[in-house]
Amino acid sequence: MVDYDVIVAGAGTGGAITAFTLAKKGHSVLMIDRKERNRIGLKTCGDALGDHHVKKMKEMIGLPDLPKDIVEHEVSGIDLYAPDGVNKLSMIGPSTKGYSFNRHKMGQWLVSLTENAGVEIMASTRVKRPLFDEGKVSGVRVSKEGDDADKDLRARIVVDATGATGMLRRQLPESSLIEKTVAKEDQMVAWRDIYDTPELEFDTPDILQIHWNQEQTLGGYTCVFPQGPHRVNVGLGVMTIPGYTHPRKVYDSFVRENWSFMKTKLVTIDSSGGTAPIRRPIDTMVDDNFMLVGDAACQVNPINGGGIGSSMLGGVHAAQVASEALERNDTSMESLWDYNPRYMESYGIKQASLDVFRWFLLNVTNNDINFAFEKGIVKGIDLLSVSITGKMEIGTGEKFKRLIAGIGKVPLLMRVNKVAKLMNQIKDVYSQYPTTPKGLADWKARLTPIYDAAKKA
Ligand SMILES: Cc1cc2nc3c(=O)[nH]c(=O)nc-3n(C[C@H](O)[C@H](O)[C@H](O)COP(=O)(O)OP(=O)(O)OC[C@H]3O[C@@H](n4cnc5c(N)ncnc54)[C@H](O)[C@@H]3O)c2cc1C
Repeated sequence: MVDYDVIVAGAGTGGAITAFTLAKKGHSVLMIDRKERNRIGLKTCGDALGDHHVKKMKEMIGLPDLPKDIVEHEVSGIDLYAPDGVNKLSMIGPSTKGYSFNRHKMGQWLVSLTENAGVEIMASTRVKRPLFDEGKVSGVRVSKEGDDADKDLRARIVVDATGATGMLRRQLPESSLIEKTVAKEDQMVAWRDIYDTPELEFDTPDILQIHWNQEQTLGGYTCVFPQGPHRVNVGLGVMTIPGYTHPRKVYDSFVRENWSFMKTKLVTIDSSGGTAPIRRPIDTMVDDNFMLVGDAACQVNPINGGGIGSSMLGGVHAAQVASEALERNDTSMESLWDYNPRYMESYGIKQASLDVFRWFLLNVTNNDINFAFEKGIVKGIDLLSVSITGKMEIGTGEKFKRLIAGIGKVPLLMRVNKVAKLMNQIKDVYSQYPTTPKGLADWKARLTPIYDAAKKA
């Protein structure tokens, strides 16, 4: 006997949009979160979201506009600073338009939307493990705060949207085609504080700042994201590769010492750590009666760490495929498979290509970056276009000019060329994502040599 059509574990941005979309289609949905109802949405985040993601949600599922009280400030662009702290690239365009918002209020708004759409919310409840019936997922075991005994709940489909922990994903049986673990080298750990700055007024609160420094924040960066003239979200992330330093330590020794406003009066609004998967999506995000959404599916942009928009996009695709599978009364892996190519097509291809680019960025030095910024070998427009399309394209005439500018760093330019080729190769492989589970092994075999080459590029 099943209790619900779908149980969604986790009420973050990915889970909430999955539940909302399914309920709107008339399915019975339970959404469970370990947090108290009024604390859902509290999360360590840079609190920035591109307007194009909001527009996409409106177009795909009729998501209402963000209420005004959620938005702290409108964003028009991003300044990316070289490690020397002097040279910077400004990225301003339609794709950098967006919002600095209040993450807690956003979470509360999304939960209210799901509730109004008919989703049952079970808060203060930890999802402990998946349940299986004849080897297939059939529900979840949960523990509600204050209850002595655990409870088993059954559904035709279970969605793991528990964020970076992938609570259910990592407890799948060995035989599942889904990857259970995310490699350390593909995880970022972060620390961030939000302050009111009564003594300091940010001149350009609509411009987010990203500071690149390979020695302090290898594979990551420091963000200074104003949320208005007197409020700022300051954080940093580092990849958990061998020898990494805990981000809080780097925050204390590097950020506190090097940003002059850190020495002015600061009123701390929040201070916390978090983690995010920084890689291509999980190779397959479905099993029998089971789907992954958001960070649990590694649907984060590997370059900028943005995962709110893509988790919502993943949630819509997952819900639409789940709904079709429920309608035809077949929730097998084969029936849910289409979620994979649909997500890959809409975002996964770009993620995979940016994952290749991430490996290149991991291997450049502060000197390389300073040089490239100073000589104009890299331009804001290039980075903007790479981050939008996942493709590195520089015209021939422009390439020649930059080659001249880059004399003295020819090996670096050659590496850039090699990486551009690898990015195109991976995009080709992802655009041929298998249409059934049978093709998965062969498809994965095509990825390995490209990623091996990317790690050395
Ligand atoms: C430091 C940092 C800064 C970031 N900045 C940005 C940014 O500025 N812009 C952006 O777009 N993205 C940003 N991201 C990424 C973004 O926050 C995530 O990609 C996004 O929130 C993913 O949504 P999700 O729904 O998958 O997971 P989450 O939002 O993490 O939601 C998961 C939910 O599951 C619940 N849960 C977990 N385990 C259980 C369990 N066992 N039982 C029940 N419930 C459970 C949690 O309480 C939570 O509510 C940042 C990430 C980090 C770490």
